[in-house]
Amino acid sequence: MSSTAAPDAPDLRRVDRLEVLFDELGELMGQRNAIDARIVEIIAETDHDHLWGITGARSISAMVAWKTGSSSATANTIAAVAHRLPQFPICAAGMREGRLSLDQVGAIAKKAAEGSDEHYAALAEVATVSQLNTALKLEPPLPPEPDPYREPGADRSPKPEPELPPTLTKTHSNDQYVYWKIGLSHLDAATFDTAVQSHLDAAIAEYKRDHDNDGLAPEHRPPFPTRGQAFMSLVESGADTDAAHRPHGQRSTVVVHLDIKDRIAHLHLGPLLSDADRQYLTCDATCEVWFQRDGQPIGAGRATRTISRRLRRALEYRHPTCAVPGCAATRGLHAHHIVHWERGGPTEPDNLVLLCPYHHRAHHRGEITITGPAPNITVTDTNGHTLSSASLARPPNRPPPDVAPYRGPIGERAQWWWYTPFQPKPPATN
Ligand SMILES: [Zn+2]
Ligand SMILES: [Zn+2]
Repeated sequence: MSSTAAPDAPDLRRVDRLEVLFDELGELMGQRNAIDARIVEIIAETDHDHLWGITGARSISAMVAWKTGSSSATANTIAAVAHRLPQFPICAAGMREGRLSLDQVGAIAKKAAEGSDEHYAALAEVATVSQLNTALKLEPPLPPEPDPYREPGADRSPKPEPELPPTLTKTHSNDQYVYWKIGLSHLDAATFDTAVQSHLDAAIAEYKRDHDNDGLAPEHRPPFPTRGQAFMSLVESGADTDAAHRPHGQRSTVVVHLDIKDRIAHLHLGPLLSDADRQYLTCDATCEVWFQRDGQPIGAGRATRTISRRLRRALEYRHPTCAVPGCAATRGLHAHHIVHWERGGPTEPDNLVLLCPYHHRAHHRGEITITGPAPNITVTDTNGHTLSSASLARPPNRPPPDVAPYRGPIGERAQWWWYTPFQPKPPATN
């Protein structure tokens, strides 16, 4: 009867339409998963041979974000899957055949224990990403992996000298104290020393002002400031200003002594500097240079190369991030002299670009070159290839992968009481 069929008809059509749309969605997702599988394999190859190192990117995920035009979250996922590809062949095959998505396998690659490939590949066939994450949380934690880029066998060909990362470890504690061990390169140590010293100086000055003539008996006076307190004051001031911190306000000053005749520099009360470190430190006005001749100080030269706040603002306005293509860093940028001031380069906009500390060091270590004039600079990697910030994406000229449509997770509420978490095996001892 038309009177009952009529109200149903539009609904049926809506359901049909949704079915058609979902049909296409499934087909496209299948193809996308298969394409993601190939993308991951490509990244795994650049990861394995450390090829990405020659691009000037600071990490493999930074390179992925740059070259694929993706967010850092997506790039991290791609890099995580790529890095553990050999450990998860079944999951990888699931992606290649269009059955598992990048985010599903990514959740697994980021947290799952070794030997769990089969377990999670089966779960991923039916589970959503958040269900997978719940299952992964039920697994006992993964032991920390050794840094793959520091393995002795890894090919680290023409790197001038690896950057020494700072280390910070909690060693032990007793009723009163927790103890830490801090390892710093000479450069970092000089920054650290100077910062602690400046906080100590300020605390002592304040103490003298407040307590020199306060008439208090010595036992009632607060204790005289110590380096430990200065250190905590430094930490607290960092924490306080962090949220509202402009990318580059005034920084603590490291003092460098520079012999103008021989162009030899050493840190104040510290070791001699390599050419790269000397140029890095004296490039931005973040350090104070004391000129000397034949070991005798002849004055402090800040005026000619100091970057005023106004000049800094102008540089920020012109290019608010690190000038190296693909790098989006905005915090703690240094103003780099394209022609170094030692060689007569002026402290002027045409000769200055903002660089993040990582790329600034990389440049002065010879890993990337920067040629001006600003703002149209050219950045090249160790092989002389010009870096560009554009992603590699272009219209495809080969057919999409021929895979079955993606069915997706079943979407059922998970019944966790029957789920058995994966139990990692203890590492074999031999
Ligand atoms: Zn520089
Ligand atoms: Zn950078």
